[in-house]
Amino acid sequence: MPEAPTTRPLVEIRGVNKYFGSHHVLKDIDLDVAKGEVVIVIGPSGSGKSTLCRSINRLETIDSGEILIDGVRLPEEGRQLAALRSDVGMVFQAFNLFAHKTVLENVTLAPIKVRRIPKAEANKRAMELLTRVGVADHANKLPAQLSGGQQQRVAIARSLAMDPKLILLDEPTSALDPEMINEVLDVMVELAQDGMTMVVVTHEMGFARKAADRVVFMADGAIVEEAAPEEFFSHPKSDRAKDFLSKIL
Ligand code: ADP
Ligand code: MG
Repeated sequence: MPEAPTTRPLVEIRGVNKYFGSHHVLKDIDLDVAKGEVVIVIGPSGSGKSTLCRSINRLETIDSGEILIDGVRLPEEGRQLAALRSDVGMVFQAFNLFAHKTVLENVTLAPIKVRRIPKAEANKRAMELLTRVGVADHANKLPAQLSGGQQQRVAIARSLAMDPKLILLDEPTSALDPEMINEVLDVMVELAQDGMTMVVVTHEMGFARKAADRVVFMADGAIVEEAAPEEFFSHPKSDRAKDFLSKIL
């Protein structure tokens, strides 16, 4: 019997609200992300994009609503949270590699410690991933010996090493020198084409056009507009989106 198609979204965000003190930073967020879908989150600084990403893997708590990953509600803490969190890879603006560990060790650390994968096997898999992102030659170097673009590709390999169901990338190219942006975007486009489910905070239109299925525009903690990339960039509907695009284009 063929497996019945599953229509349930991989990520389900329902009525999520989040406050920092009296500051309402996520306002009734509803968002589904299908398996294999690439969603771009875009919007002015301070609109809640990072907080939303961080809420999806519980680096932030939420005050109301719920977030389900593959049908499982995110727990507040404990063993189940660790398991769920390892299903969600995260790549930050600042590469966040362990400075005193080699590139290879950065990629194998979590698989060995969290997934209990034998070291030889973790090394082999890590070298495959480093090859895939084009930095295998640097496996035995420390992060500081690599360029920013190379470090960010290591960070992507590190998140892939846990075989996540979903990868969140929060402005992965905005700390990079311009000449390094494309080498990271190219890796992201390949991931998208390989069917990885991705939520990407980025203003890189080229990536959005090549790889995104949907653009979600946030302003003041709310989702203001959602559309296919071509539609959003050529015919934004809300004044907020028009104003934002006039500033970044
Ligand atoms: P974006 O990523 O879209 O720039 P953020 O999610 O980082 O926005 O921030 C949304 C709002 O929440 C901003 O006003 C920011 O100052 C505030 N904020 C973010 N993190 C914290 C925090 N840890 N404590 C207090 N306020 C925060
Ligand atoms: Mg941010």
